[in-house]
Amino acid sequence: MKVLITGGAGFIGSNLTRKYLEKGDTVYVVDNLSTGSYENISDLVEKYPDKLVYQNDSILNDNVMKEAIENVDVVVHLAAAVGVKYIIENPLSAMETNILGTENVLKWVNKFKKKIFIASSSEVYGDQEKAPLSEEDSVIYGPSDKLRWSYAASKLVDEFIALAYYRTSNTPVVVGRLFNIIGTNQTGRYGMVVPGLIRQALTNEPLTVYGNGKQTRTFTYVEDTVWAIMKMMENPNCNGRIINIGGLEEISIYDLAKKIISLTNSSSKIKLVPYEKVYTKDFDDMQRRVPSLKKAKELINYHPEYNLEQSLKLIIKAIKKNIEQKDSTSSRRGKTRKGVKEGEKSNP
Ligand code: UDP
Repeated sequence: MKVLITGGAGFIGSNLTRKYLEKGDTVYVVDNLSTGSYENISDLVEKYPDKLVYQNDSILNDNVMKEAIENVDVVVHLAAAVGVKYIIENPLSAMETNILGTENVLKWVNKFKKKIFIASSSEVYGDQEKAPLSEEDSVIYGPSDKLRWSYAASKLVDEFIALAYYRTSNTPVVVGRLFNIIGTNQTGRYGMVVPGLIRQALTNEPLTVYGNGKQTRTFTYVEDTVWAIMKMMENPNCNGRIINIGGLEEISIYDLAKKIISLTNSSSKIKLVPYEKVYTKDFDDMQRRVPSLKKAKELINYHPEYNLEQSLKLIIKAIKKNIEQKDSTSSRRGKTRKGVKEGEKSNP
């Protein structure tokens, strides 16, 4: 099978690329590295020279998407502007990527009638504090001058467009609402809490917990996420559905910080940082985020295998290794990095 993964050099995308390649499939990755990184897939490009094609391009590029989608069997659409920090710093391009980019992908998927997975987010629930959140629940948003809601709204528009293609043309689409995915190669650069706090703990810096730290999240390990995406792609009963994919353990961010300090044996302290010191005043945080996994269980027999502690231990190990490697290679700075320039393919 040939799979196109948009955003395949990103955190979730690269893990999915690896899984499809291990299964024997051919993978086409289109990623403009806006938040992804070539390093996420460089080992795969070397290991699978005949099975992985990486193209450095934008999902907004009409010709690229037409050609890529026409040539594959299925599409996994993960390319998106993600991370609170990135959205706040790039409000316009974030909207363009998330809305126009997804529409561009769906337009060609519809034309060539390919199955597609669309990555949505638990953010679409907005200010809903109900727990657990089920796919049928209403969404609650704040005013449009608060940037945080723009991300939620853009993902909700993606869902509407995807379902509209399903309803009007029977295009096989499935939407996954992903709840705070974490894993070893997630970068903390765009504000994601777990890699950020772990890095702080490992370098004995204060762990920055925003607000009063009572806000909660439910984290999902990336291996469980990619398993679920592959299952949803295989199962025609998922077509036309929106499905939560998440973890089981709700935890406050304050308790998460405490857990990370304990698992890393760190001497760091926790520092509460008021929201207005971190983001602009246009920012609202979600207080609670717990998924109902009933639908995912019914449709694909989903039950997360990695608990929070296991996941954190794996991520701590990876970040520790990364810090040690950076320390030991800092003397070798200046070495040119291998990559693929914009508009180029790895294995044309
Ligand atoms: N957060 C924090 N310290 C950080 C980064 C994030 O306390 O260094 C908080 C953030 O305010 C939010 C939670 O951790 O309440 C999860 O943040 P993230 O950006 O990872 O995910 P999202 O807010 O999109 O669920």
